Amino acid sequence: MAFELEVDNLIPAYSRKVLLVVEYDGAYWHAGREKYDRWKVERSLDAAQWQESEVVRVREEPLLPLRLSDVWVPKRSSAVMCARLILLHLLQGFLVPLRAHDVCKRVEHFLAAAAKPLKKDEIHCEQCWKLASALREAGLK
Ligand SMILES: [Zn+2]
Repeated sequence: MAFELEVDNLIPAYSRKVLLVVEYDGAYWHAGREKYDRWKVERSLDAAQWQESEVVRVREEPLLPLRLSDVWVPKRSSAVMCARLILLHLLQGFLVPLRAHDVCKRVEHFLAAAAKPLKKDEIHCEQCWKLASALREAGLK
């Protein structure tokens, strides 16, 4: 029996056996749907039989992150703001195995290319704030 993977963004990473799923949870549509949203993705991943996968939920304020891998974004954030916050968060989790690889350096340079640094009230994750500060101090915003 074939299953469709119903997710917002699906990114094969490292190899064909590792998968990154990024789900965007807008505050209006996803309020009170935490249980269903989690179940839907887990069911889809089980059905697809991926050996390793990471699901990152991008949770729009006032929704709260459900797991450590989730990224909180301010209400009505632009796509660029979301991308910056997701990449910053992935640098500490999903991308850690690639630390020695130039992927992390390229992500850091992408983050540095922004005209304005991320502000404290735009980053809810303490680890991401520390990393953003360290990158800024190192000359990378
Ligand atoms: Zn973070």
